Amino acid sequence: MDVLTRIPVREQEPQVRAKNFEEVCYGYNEEEAVAEAGRCLNCKNAQCMKGCPVSINIPGFIAKVKERDFEGAYQVISESSALPAVCGRVCPQESQCEGKCIRGFKGDPVAIGKLERFVADWAREHGIRPKMADKLNGHKVAVIGSGPAGLTCAGDLAKLGYDVTIFEALHKAGGVLSYGIPEFRLPKDKVVAAEVENVKSLGVKIETNVVIGKSVTIDELMENEGFEAVFIGSGAGLPRFMGIPGEQANGVFSANEFLTRNNLMKAFEEGYETPIAEGKKVVVVGGGNVAMDAARTALRLGAEVHIVYRRGEEELPARKEEVHHAKEEGIIFDLLQNPTEILVDENGWVKGIRIIKMELGEPDASGRRSPIEIPGSEYEMECDTVIMSLGTSPNPLISSTTIGLDVNKRKCIVATEETGATSKEGVYAGGDAVTGAATVILAMGAGKAAAKGIDEFLSNK
Ligand SMILES: Cc1cc2nc3c(=O)[nH]c(=O)nc-3n(C[C@H](O)[C@H](O)[C@H](O)COP(=O)(O)OP(=O)(O)OC[C@H]3O[C@@H](n4cnc5c(N)ncnc54)[C@H](O)[C@@H]3O)c2cc1C
Repeated sequence: MDVLTRIPVREQEPQVRAKNFEEVCYGYNEEEAVAEAGRCLNCKNAQCMKGCPVSINIPGFIAKVKERDFEGAYQVISESSALPAVCGRVCPQESQCEGKCIRGFKGDPVAIGKLERFVADWAREHGIRPKMADKLNGHKVAVIGSGPAGLTCAGDLAKLGYDVTIFEALHKAGGVLSYGIPEFRLPKDKVVAAEVENVKSLGVKIETNVVIGKSVTIDELMENEGFEAVFIGSGAGLPRFMGIPGEQANGVFSANEFLTRNNLMKAFEEGYETPIAEGKKVVVVGGGNVAMDAARTALRLGAEVHIVYRRGEEELPARKEEVHHAKEEGIIFDLLQNPTEILVDENGWVKGIRIIKMELGEPDASGRRSPIEIPGSEYEMECDTVIMSLGTSPNPLISSTTIGLDVNKRKCIVATEETGATSKEGVYAGGDAVTGAATVILAMGAGKAAAKGIDEFLSNK
C-alpha cells in the first residue's frame, strides 16, 4: 500500500448524478475504512484534534477502526459529537482536522471525515445508539431551534441528566441540515432524521411548529413554564439581496427559499405539489456552499446553470469538494463578474441579467482581495431564473421579543465564546444566531460550550 495516498472514495459518475438527487458519495466499506485507518500515525500530540471545534478524540476512534472495533469507534466519537454522520459528510475537513494532519506534509492527509462518516453509518446500520444519562437531575432547560447548535446543546445537557425540550419553528427538526443542504449531499431520512432520533433517544423532547417570539416568548418560557435556562440556536435564516434594479421580478429567488422548496417540501419528487421554478437557464449569484447547493439542485431539475461570483477561483468560499463536484457535473463558473441589473419582460418575469466584469485589488477587512469593477465591461446574459445566494442574517424575531437580550449591529445575538452566556441571566446562545452564517461544526462547538455554561450556571444556582 502507498501510505502517502489516501484510499479513494467511490462516487456516482458525474453524468449520471447530474440527473438524480441520490447521494453523490458512497463512502468507504469496511475494508477501505480499515485500510485508510492504517495510514493514521496515532500522533501523541495529535494536531488533528486541535482543528476540531468539538474536540473529537480522532486518533482514538481511528485506532478502534484499525482494530475493526467499529462500535468502540462510534462510542469514542459520540462522547463529543451528536451528529457524526452529518459532520463526516459536510464539515470543511480540509481546513480543520485534515488541514492539520501530519500526513498532509508529504502526501494526502488521513481521510478523517470519510472515516467518521463510515463509523457513524456503520453504527446506524447496526442499531447502535449513544449512551443515556443514568438519571434526571430535576432541572428543565429549553432549547430554541433544532439545527446543529440546538441539537448538540440539547444532547450534551440530556447526557448530564437535564430535562430538555427543543422548540422548533418548522414542521421538521434539523435546521439547515433538513431544509438547506440538499439530499444528494446529505440524505434526509437516512442520515439527518436518524441523528435527530439519536438525540431524542437521550431523552430530549422536540416540539415542532412552535415559533418562539410568536407562539410563546422566552420570558414566558422562563416565568410561566418552569424553564430555568434557555439556549438560543435559531440560526441565520434571513436572506440578503443585492438591492439592484429588477430584483423584485418573478423568477428571482433567495437560495434559502429555492432549497427549502426542494429539500423540506420535496418539490423535486413526484407526488408532491410544491411549486418550483424549473428554469431553462439559471444564474446563481454567489460562491459559497449555499450557492453550490442551489446551482447543483437547479442542474438536477434540468437547467443550464451559471455561477456568477465577483471574486476569483482562489477566493470561492465553498468547500473544495463542492466546487470540484459542481464543475464535474457541468456547472459553468463565470468568475470575477457581478450582476448590476436583472432584466424583466413586460409580464414582470426575469428575461436576463446585466453583468459587469471585475478585477481584484488590495485585500479588504476579510483578508481577501477586494473586487473592483472594470469600467465599460458590462454585458447582458439571457436567463429565466436568478437565485441570490449572498449570505443570510439572523431573524430579529427572538431578539425583539426578549427583554434585555443584546444584539450587535448585524442583529446577531451577543454571547461569550467560552460559555454562550448572553446579556440576560439564564439565557445562552450560539451557532449562526451569534456568528452569522458559518458552519455546522462551529455551531456544534458553540452548542457544546453553552451546554457546559448552562450546567455550571444551574449547578451553582
Ligand atoms: C444551503 C446550505 C448549505 C450549507 N452547507 C454547509 C456545509 O457544507 N458545511 C458546513 O459546515 N456548513 C454548511 N452550511 C452552514 C451550516 O448549515 C450552518 O452554519 C448551521 O446549520 C448553523 O447551525 P445553527 O444550529 O446555528 O442554525 P440552523 O441550522 O439554521 O438551525 C436553526 C433552527 O432554528 C429554527 N428557528 C429559527 N427561529 C426560530 C424561532 N423563532 N422559534 C423556533 N425555532 C426557530 C429554524 O427553523 C432552524 O431549524 C450550509 C448552509 C446552507 C444554508
